[in-house]
Amino acid sequence: MTEDGGAPRRRTVLKFGGTSVASPAALEKVGEIVKGVEGERVVVVSATAGTTDALVAAARDAERGDAQKAEQQIGELAEAHKNLAADTLGFSSGEVLKEVGDLTERTIALLQSVAILRECTARTRDAIVAYGERVSAPIVAAVLEAKGVKAEALSAEGLVITDDAFGQANPSLEETRARAAKELIPRLAIGVTPVVTGFIGSTPEGVTTTLGRGASDYSAGVLAAAIDASELRIYTDVSGVMSADPRVVKGAKPLGSLSYAEAAELSYFGAKVIHPRAVLPAVERGIPVRILNTFVPEHPGTTITTDTPRDGSVVKATTSIGDLGLITVQGAGMSGIPGFAARVFDTTAAERVSVMMISQASSENSICLVVDAASTDRLKSALERMFSAELRRHDVERVSIERPVAIVAAVGEGMRGTPGVAARVFGALGKAGVNVVAIAQGSSELNISLVVAEKDREAAVRLIHEEFHR
Ligand code: ASP
Ligand code: MG
Repeated sequence: MTEDGGAPRRRTVLKFGGTSVASPAALEKVGEIVKGVEGERVVVVSATAGTTDALVAAARDAERGDAQKAEQQIGELAEAHKNLAADTLGFSSGEVLKEVGDLTERTIALLQSVAILRECTARTRDAIVAYGERVSAPIVAAVLEAKGVKAEALSAEGLVITDDAFGQANPSLEETRARAAKELIPRLAIGVTPVVTGFIGSTPEGVTTTLGRGASDYSAGVLAAAIDASELRIYTDVSGVMSADPRVVKGAKPLGSLSYAEAAELSYFGAKVIHPRAVLPAVERGIPVRILNTFVPEHPGTTITTDTPRDGSVVKATTSIGDLGLITVQGAGMSGIPGFAARVFDTTAAERVSVMMISQASSENSICLVVDAASTDRLKSALERMFSAELRRHDVERVSIERPVAIVAAVGEGMRGTPGVAARVFGALGKAGVNVVAIAQGSSELNISLVVAEKDREAAVRLIHEEFHR
């Protein structure tokens, strides 16, 4: 029941990514999809594909003092958006063209100031890159209007309220909820579909911020939570999450459902469909999140929920991340010495190197860390400095590097408490002669990760996938 005693209304948040708003054909799809959703709708949009990159580049050119190049970049973006609007909307594009023109002028003025000062603060950069979403929202709103959907473009400034960590701002759900009650709910009540800019927000005082690259999904997650949506749909250009990268595994299958933990695990290990942080605000409130394909809208996609009923699968998906280095600190004099691991990780922290995976044998003779390949030499030197006394005494024999390596991860809630999963993984690799360099399993038993030489990466993914998806 709703507050006024009526039947509960469906309230759907639909987020469209960069490729979904970048062409007349895509916008046509978007229009049809939104029109087909019953009940209240809030649309969240990205900038058109490539636009944010171009804006970041323009800001950099301006910072170097090259105002002309920066202006030329914006000029090209403005042209492209005007053409997109004209091609999609024809004669009814007048308002939108004016809006694009106004935003363009304002952004050129910002870039000129940057070029004069030769300084672009994170705050100024946010004001510049906001252009991308601010021009795409009016285009999408006009497309909806042309389809007979009452729609209104809304900037998320003053709506998605964040702190002032420019470039990577953190939204406040409470403040956003309060603003949404004023800005979104009344519009929904009169049948208007707001088209909100993803990616950007503002401080409570109204200074423009951005939530981080790729963060328009996050905007959608926060807004869905803020208005207690019935469902969050993230429309992209693939049909949800697959059981493996289809470029690597021919038999990769779409996954109908994933738990939040599985989605988080997969994205950590390189599956790029969605950043789990983005959907957490929605998932935490029990709002189902669906990942769908704008270009194949009838495909059921992948639904992410707090926990997914077990479907009998053991390993649900196999993924990998490459271009990594394995560092091993090895020495017989380390076993049983408290504080050894702490010193290893003090070193990684001091070097600001993020550790992707750790493994230590129970003999405590060695500790292995997997980090990105580019940081391995630096970290090796730092570890040698940290353990210089132990190296001299031969308590630590060596700090060695193996590179390039990849982590291959088998993920699935069904692994928990199922005996023999590891044996099957290693059996499959062993039979094919793929050497496993190191292994780790989290105590959640949600994933088994192994390190293999980069050259074996694809074979390992295929072999594990084949073992569990026959
Ligand atoms: N337009 C922003 C970016 O490219 C946000 C997004 O697309 O999600 O980073
Ligand atoms: Mg994007």
